[in-house]
Amino acid sequence: MLGRVVVLLVSYFIAVSGDIHNDNREEHWGYHDHNGPSDWASLYPTCGGSHQSPINIITSDLVHTWIDPYHFHNYEQNVQQIKLTNTGHSVNVEVIFANEAPYINGGGLGDDYILKQFHFHWGSISSQGSEHNVDSTRYPMEIHNVFYKSSYGSYDEATAHSDGIAVLAVFVSIATDDNSQLQNIINFIPEVNQAESTFVGDVDLNLKALLPMTTHSFYWYRGSFTTPGCNEVVTWTVFKEPITISESQLDVFRNLLDSDNMQMQDNFRPTQPLNDRVVYTSSVGDSGNYAGPGSTSNKPGVGDDSSSNKPGVDGGVEQATTNKPYEL
Ligand SMILES: [Zn+2]
Repeated sequence: MLGRVVVLLVSYFIAVSGDIHNDNREEHWGYHDHNGPSDWASLYPTCGGSHQSPINIITSDLVHTWIDPYHFHNYEQNVQQIKLTNTGHSVNVEVIFANEAPYINGGGLGDDYILKQFHFHWGSISSQGSEHNVDSTRYPMEIHNVFYKSSYGSYDEATAHSDGIAVLAVFVSIATDDNSQLQNIINFIPEVNQAESTFVGDVDLNLKALLPMTTHSFYWYRGSFTTPGCNEVVTWTVFKEPITISESQLDVFRNLLDSDNMQMQDNFRPTQPLNDRVVYTSSVGDSGNYAGPGSTSNKPGVGDDSSSNKPGVDGGVEQATTNKPYEL
């Protein structure tokens, strides 16, 4: 009997000391000093890759080209239910429809991409919070609408392919008035105050209201998930026009608790080097390099070459040798 107790005690201390020495960094990556973005690459090597996101979009370096507009399908029907998840790093929202899930095509994607979830990145103060910057300007919040390529059959499978994921990023700026559509989501946020908690609620939500009025004006480039494992499998579209939120609505997000049981704030990754990539823009009016008619070097399209940086389908279906992401 005594021997059994000793064995149990030894097992207990091994377990406890294991926790102390391991400090659960793999499970508790985050945005604090002890587990923040500068540490990620030591556990997730792809986070140290050369085609990472987010980036600072420099408008004088944009390449203007034609990218067909996005088409949004099943966006007109109102959402019936949403499932909120406090991931410990953000709040994810999955939409539950009576009919077919929303999907997009166009936008140089070359295929249908199905909506998986959307989530938020925000700051402790409203001079920061967005992941992408435009000429070093930051917004207080950024929404990521995450889609996966339908032909891969599932989100998990799509994350293993270089063209598997498309994210539509929407900047959110401060307004005096509440955003009534966002409020439909914000009403439920106190229900997922603790990390790892989930909540399903009935909601009357129009997804189009979470997009800017103008969706044909955007920045476009190829990059990665902005959280571990940082897979370089994301076609990024960053809309130029923001939507709005009030300070009091933002404060509801700021009161969420993260996986370290601290206030969930500043859950954005610093911008990453662009390296050899090009950022395209779909609209006229910005300064930049215009790839005019007759130029073939910057046109999107199927099989124009094998570069993974060009808009359009480029045959980029090779397996990505990266870890599976936990989320975006
Ligand atoms: Zn994100």
